[in-house]
Amino acid sequence: MPNLETVVREIADEMRQRSDRGEVARYIPELARVDPNQFGLAVIGADGTVAAAGDCDVPFSIQSISKVFTLTLALGMVGDRLWQRVGREPSGSPFNSVVQLEYERGIPRNPFINAGAIAVTDLILSRHQPREALGEILRFMQYLAQDNTITIDEEVAASEQRTGFRNVALANYMKSFGVIDNPVEYTLGVYFHHCAISMTCRQLAAAGRFLAHSGRDPSTGLSVVQAERARRINAVMLTCGHYDGSGEFAYRVGLPGKSGVGGGILAVAPGTASIAVWAPGLDAAGNSHLGRIALERLTKRLGWSIFGE
Ligand code: GLU
Repeated sequence: MPNLETVVREIADEMRQRSDRGEVARYIPELARVDPNQFGLAVIGADGTVAAAGDCDVPFSIQSISKVFTLTLALGMVGDRLWQRVGREPSGSPFNSVVQLEYERGIPRNPFINAGAIAVTDLILSRHQPREALGEILRFMQYLAQDNTITIDEEVAASEQRTGFRNVALANYMKSFGVIDNPVEYTLGVYFHHCAISMTCRQLAAAGRFLAHSGRDPSTGLSVVQAERARRINAVMLTCGHYDGSGEFAYRVGLPGKSGVGGGILAVAPGTASIAVWAPGLDAAGNSHLGRIALERLTKRLGWSIFGE
């Protein structure tokens, strides 16, 4: 089997040379300013070995990757009752689609499309004041990554708050069906801010370790969630983590993964590794273009696809 560090370095070099970089997200003005020529990759193995390359220490906006962690927190608060508010089927439509919500009477298809994540954020908010809810989400990220320097990029949050008209529409629409309990502006305020958490690939790979190791963080030995819950979160990541590109991601990469419009992807090789990749340019489905290609190469060279070598 090839050496992990060598593979990670090779892939970062290969990605640096490519000219097809996708398009940075333009609908959030602050993200439109990010340099698309960046690429970072960090992999943390079961024994804690870190292999990292490229811009692996540059913080980026994790955006929808935060939805994995808000789902984990909300399941911890309300348990399986969460699934009365949100489904767990792939959507087959874009991440911010309004149409599906009308057909399905305000119940979002899954917790990773925007509507679903907003409904999950609302469940967390119901247990707190808005600032406390956000503080709890941020502290959870810091705890998982064992790094209390992780912060929220207030400019990204403000940028989305000014322009997130579609998310406002989704939240109001769900509210009309009784799926949102709190004032829409509070729920969205928390949602925009957790999407604006800024992390490096190295920090993100550390935060995802519990998903790769049956709910336990191997560095502390502490249980974050039960093994069954980690397995199920991974299942939802595999089927829904890349919006309308989830099938393609499973086909090419073969790992549970969650993307964000900041260009990051968190991927989980169960029992083996937690992986974070970042390349800001997106493909047509809103997923990192080079991030996906890099992960495809990584799993192929290391034989890490959950579907076999
Ligand atoms: N904050 C972004 C939005 O609500 C998240 C989308 C994403 O990362 O896919 O549009």
